[in-house]
Amino acid sequence: MECPICGSDNVEILNAKQKSSKKKLMEEYLLKCEDCGHVFKDIFSAKKPKPYRLIISAHDKSHKTTIDLSPSDELKSGDVLLSDLGQVEVTSIEVGDKRVNKAKIEDINTIWAASTEIPARIGFSVDLHGEVDSYKLDLERDFEIAPGDIVKIDKHIVKVHVIKTKDRKLTSGFAKAEVIKRVYSKPVKFNNFDYDLTKDIFKKTKKSS
Ligand SMILES: [Zn+2]
Repeated sequence: MECPICGSDNVEILNAKQKSSKKKLMEEYLLKCEDCGHVFKDIFSAKKPKPYRLIISAHDKSHKTTIDLSPSDELKSGDVLLSDLGQVEVTSIEVGDKRVNKAKIEDINTIWAASTEIPARIGFSVDLHGEVDSYKLDLERDFEIAPGDIVKIDKHIVKVHVIKTKDRKLTSGFAKAEVIKRVYSKPVKFNNFDYDLTKDIFKKTKKSS
């Protein structure tokens, strides 16, 4: 909003009117330049929101829905949207028959996203010399696990040795559950532990190695 006479952006809004046509939302402003006193009109318009196809992945399932977005905006991977199934993060955008990381919304066929509200599901292995007790756990996304942690899980008290995340293996530091794929641990002969994950077990399997 700049004064067309002197170029100043020091303007006062005298009046604002919203207008809406079939396809557009318009905002008409009556403005007064504080520097030279010139009074002028400015119109901002945006296309009206339309429904777009949204596919949300949550663990191994996916849910199809739609989301209303303004066609004149832009969308990119990593953007957070509020869908009818909760908050999601855009992972990929389909334009024509291509997957892209960024697009003008009016060009989009399908938006792919991941839920950021459901718990993180991680694997947890307990190495029992020849056999492995393997668990699936549902944890708060920001729950932190560190190599060296002493953990109670089911009937075991174990020490965390290695944490495999989406892109590396950790033997020090820590990782949040949302990036962890699997935790590897071995039983220890302690009676005390840092925390108990037994209540977070979703599924248990036993494997011979
Ligand atoms: Zn002016």
